[in-house]
Amino acid sequence: MKRLLFLLLALSAGCAEIPMLKDFEVNQSHVRLILIDKDRISAFCETIMDRPGDHLDGCARWSADRTSCEIYVTAPESVNDLARMATIGHEVWHCFRGRFHP
Ligand SMILES: [Zn+2]
Repeated sequence: MKRLLFLLLALSAGCAEIPMLKDFEVNQSHVRLILIDKDRISAFCETIMDRPGDHLDGCARWSADRTSCEIYVTAPESVNDLARMATIGHEVWHCFRGRFHP
C-alpha cells in the first residue's frame, strides 16, 4: 500500500528537471539537497527551470560545473509528510535516470 501511495504522490508531484540528459542511467551520483521554504519553492523552481506559471513542488538540475546534481525541495513537516518525502525521492531519482517522465 505504501508503494502505491508513494507512486501516486510521485506522479502527481509537480516537477521539473532540466537541463538533464534524457534517458541516462547511472548507479552513483553526487547529490546536493537544498531546502527551500514552502512558500517559495514553486516560484523558485519556475524561475530556474524557466517554466513560469507551472506549479512545481521541486526540481532537479546539474550544478554549473556538472559535478553534482542539485535537488530543490521543501522540508517535510514530519516523517508522515508523505507528499514531500515522495518529492525528495522523485527528484533524487532524476539524478540517476535523467528525464524519466513519460
Ligand atoms: Zn520529475
